[in-house]
Amino acid sequence: MTHICNALIVSCIDFRFQKFIQKWLAKNFKNKTYDYVGFAGSTKDLKTILKQLDVSVRLHKIKQAVLIHHEDCGAYGKDSTPDRHAKDLLTAKKTVQKKYPQLRLALYYIHLDGKFEKVN
Ligand SMILES: [Zn+2]
Repeated sequence: MTHICNALIVSCIDFRFQKFIQKWLAKNFKNKTYDYVGFAGSTKDLKTILKQLDVSVRLHKIKQAVLIHHEDCGAYGKDSTPDRHAKDLLTAKKTVQKKYPQLRLALYYIHLDGKFEKVN
């Protein structure tokens, strides 16, 4: 039996952002399916996230990954600046693309008010 899904969503565990993420997913992944991993700092510990991504690719044949960081992240402490988050997201993207060139990647930074900002 194979069961496949569209995407892997990676975000921080921070409870303050979960309702924003759920709302965003309901809108943007309306008729799609996804694996979801919540980890403090999201892709900060890239090794851990890559392990989860490997499973998603291998078992669920995902075509896309969405990496989400957020403002005021406790896992980053005083280093939680927009620049630092953008830098880490782009590093994660580069690393993932090297391993899985066929995977589409989207990067986002969520503000405290729930606004999703695309990181390029
Ligand atoms: Zn966080």
